Amino acid sequence: MTKKVGVSLKWVYLFSEGNASMIDVLGGKGTHLCEMANMGLPVPPGFVISTEACNAYYAEGEQFPPTLWDQVVEALRVVEKEMGKRFGDPQNPLLVSARSGGKVSMPGMMDTVLNLGLNEETVRGLVNATGSERFAADTYRRFIQMFGKTVLGIDASLFEAILEQFKLNVGVHLDTELSAENLKEIVSEFRRLVKAGIDKEFPDDPLKQLRLSIEAVFKSWNGRRAVDYRNFYKIPHDLGTAVSIMAMVFGNMGDDSGAGVAFTRDPATGDKTLYGEYLANAQGEDVVAGIRTPQKVDLLQQEMPDVYRELVNVAERLEANYRDVQDIEFTVEQAKLYILQTRAAKRTGRAAVKAAVDMVREGLLTKEEALLRVKPDDLRQSLFPKFDERTKEEVRNQGRLLARGLNASPGAATGKVVLDADRAAELGSSGESIILVRPETSAEDVHGMLVAAGILTARGGATSHAAVVARGLGKPCVAGCEELRIDLEGRYMTAGGMVVKEDEEISIDGSTGEVFIGRIPTIAPKLSGDSDLIALLGWANEVKRLGVWANADYPSDAARALEFGAEGIGLCRTEHIFFEEERLPIVQKMILSATEATAFQNELDRLKEEIERTYGDRQGKLKQRLAKMQEERDASPVVADYRDALAELAKFQIESFKGVLSVMAGKPVIIRLIDPPLHEFLPSYERVLVATTEFRIRGNDPAKLAESENLLRAIERMREANPMMGLRGCRVGLMFTDIYKMQVRAILTAACELAKEGIDVRPKIMVPLVGHQNEMRFVREQLEKVALEVEAEMGTMVDCKIGTMIEIPRAALIADEIAHYAEFFSFGTNDLTQYTFGFSRDDAEGKFLLQYVERGILPENPFQVLDRDGVGKLIKTAVELGRKARPDLELGICGEHGGDPSSIHFCHQVGLDYVSCSPFGVPIARLAAAQAALSVGEG
Ligand code: ADP
Ligand code: MG
Ligand code: MG
Repeated sequence: MTKKVGVSLKWVYLFSEGNASMIDVLGGKGTHLCEMANMGLPVPPGFVISTEACNAYYAEGEQFPPTLWDQVVEALRVVEKEMGKRFGDPQNPLLVSARSGGKVSMPGMMDTVLNLGLNEETVRGLVNATGSERFAADTYRRFIQMFGKTVLGIDASLFEAILEQFKLNVGVHLDTELSAENLKEIVSEFRRLVKAGIDKEFPDDPLKQLRLSIEAVFKSWNGRRAVDYRNFYKIPHDLGTAVSIMAMVFGNMGDDSGAGVAFTRDPATGDKTLYGEYLANAQGEDVVAGIRTPQKVDLLQQEMPDVYRELVNVAERLEANYRDVQDIEFTVEQAKLYILQTRAAKRTGRAAVKAAVDMVREGLLTKEEALLRVKPDDLRQSLFPKFDERTKEEVRNQGRLLARGLNASPGAATGKVVLDADRAAELGSSGESIILVRPETSAEDVHGMLVAAGILTARGGATSHAAVVARGLGKPCVAGCEELRIDLEGRYMTAGGMVVKEDEEISIDGSTGEVFIGRIPTIAPKLSGDSDLIALLGWANEVKRLGVWANADYPSDAARALEFGAEGIGLCRTEHIFFEEERLPIVQKMILSATEATAFQNELDRLKEEIERTYGDRQGKLKQRLAKMQEERDASPVVADYRDALAELAKFQIESFKGVLSVMAGKPVIIRLIDPPLHEFLPSYERVLVATTEFRIRGNDPAKLAESENLLRAIERMREANPMMGLRGCRVGLMFTDIYKMQVRAILTAACELAKEGIDVRPKIMVPLVGHQNEMRFVREQLEKVALEVEAEMGTMVDCKIGTMIEIPRAALIADEIAHYAEFFSFGTNDLTQYTFGFSRDDAEGKFLLQYVERGILPENPFQVLDRDGVGKLIKTAVELGRKARPDLELGICGEHGGDPSSIHFCHQVGLDYVSCSPFGVPIARLAAAQAALSVGEG
């Protein structure tokens, strides 16, 4: 802990003593209250107990550090003076709230206690001062309930049950319909409940209430919800919470009072209009809890125009001050506005982009600030899949529209209905697409929400827990779907006479609020038409240094990548062409004949060499043998199979390369030669074994049996104990040289044909899995020969560089040697991570890696976020060595990390030329690259 017990440590700050620089000490909420008070905004008077006091409280073994309490009481005296009321005064009592709030906002995760200072005496003082029995009783009822739950730990549902039963008995629906007498009776019952629960009288001394509440807020810093939340968002656990103590203002003083939440811009769209909700005759808690459905804040414009005007004015001043969209809590007490909180508003990605771009246009932000303001993840939302409108129309016509709720968080999701968070967490983490359906959500549901594809609730408004959390997570959410009846016992839900059982599929559209039965396919988003995003990404291009390329195998992927702003193709895999169904038999023919045909060819080559080294008679004999062998070869069905298969595959490859190269005209396209182990193209050993055995037992089809046995033997030959480290990558190219030659021939043929048509083609050939410089040298020699041949045949020249992937640690360590034969490097960080850690990703992620992360053995999954210390060190080494040997060496990354913002920062820092990621990731990478350029030196 930072502060040890001392004589004159300052733990408590009046609002007038705080300022913007004190957020570590006063927490977000506390600091902003101070700032607002000092701006002259209508904030009730109060003070802040520092986060250091909270930390000291823990350091002292959950004891107040010396002088803390004295400082609290002293500050309270100042508030009393300002309010002209005294705390605990039986004539005209001051009531206060004790509110939690750390440096980083954790909405709803910690505790707050309102209406502190009430007991049987002061409640009469409240009647005395306000003349309203009902108001006093209502406030007292709220106080006992909240204090009982939060400070004394009584089960909240017990209070709820009493309240509900009472309403039922007197025949009313809403809390607001209860009379003063009713409320007094409820208070008595509440007090009895508490007494039974804690086995003591309710603490009636106001100062004691205050002290206990401060402790409860301190403790809530380490409550389960708060700890879970910090773990998820990687917020440090030692920051501590501040406690803001402030005079109560009352939204529950009748119809000209109320409480609300307002956003300075629409948090879903970013539109510049005051957006929010207001609940008349209520305290703030009621709005967030979603108990009564609130009205839109616009209605205040008619009901209390002066209040509304002032609120709009406050919103503008706050935005100008914070230069960001604000989320404001306010209360109206008898037509007077009070501001109780402001913070940066959680918003959808779309709103984040729009607000940032608009603020540049309004002169509030510079372009650079706007670029830093939007989180790369925010773009993920704009690039979210949507439902296809036409399919949606069809589904509607089929009567599959189940219900309609609030469009609380945009995006489309389909999945199985799951009715509780625990089960959602379980199914969701096993990879199932699920929709969490709840009457309403609370902090207890967050673990289920984290893994859900979408969230649907029956109650609550656009600022309810479900809506706020979903927007924060960037997940689609439909909230307040009031026609929905959820039967948690029976595990089903109904709406409009339709029944959906748990585990059945539904589709929710968080942009429109619609809920459909069954699955609706989603369609890929488009960038065109989103002028704000286009503007932002345009600014990104002005500042970024890294190129952003895409990994794309097909012309359609390349076209999408181009639309999203890709400046090249960093990885075009060739094997997908082989995997396509109708091609598989050809590929299998190639593989099954490769060994024998290659052996034949090798024998011939050896003979030819020998002939060159001999003279006279012996040479004559060898020549005869060669002629004979050539005859044999020409007659060999295996060799013919091999040649035919290669020729056929070449045709498909040429076609496919022409597609990608012409889409990417004028831009580089890196084509990688075949990489996976060849047996991946063959049927599984086990399956063929079973088939062979069946043929054998039936014994009625000897031809089929022989064919099956052949296949089995071939597969057996290709089988490897550890294919990831077996015959793959350039090793295949070196063992079966014709396969790589065929591919290079195809690439150059495609390129030359297009070049002849006047298309600016820029192919580059990439050799995978090089570990030793000689691998690169041998492959390169072969390939260059073929390239020259093709160019001679076609009568054109195409500039085609040859480079390699760096994905084996050895290659990184001797990158200078490799650079002699490679004109570019592309870091294949998926494999590089596997080989550096000695993890096989498929095994590791399934078996132990996620646990490693959970238990803190690894800080992060290294397949998602680049391991800078280890893998990163190899990259740095390779960059330095490579550039030393070849100054104009081109350097990029094409592993999945190429799309991860934090890894992109690293790529910027080590001086790569470009990152290459999935086509959808291109906009995110452009923004991340810009942010990296803007924050150079920040690490
Ligand atoms: P949370 O982090 O859960 O929003 P807050 O500390 O903001 O907790 O308080 C909960 C609710 O009580 C909010 O709606 C807030 O506006 C309201 N509130 C807090 N203090 C006061 C007060 N002094 N007077 C009136 N309402 C208050
Ligand atoms: Mg709040
Ligand atoms: Mg690889």
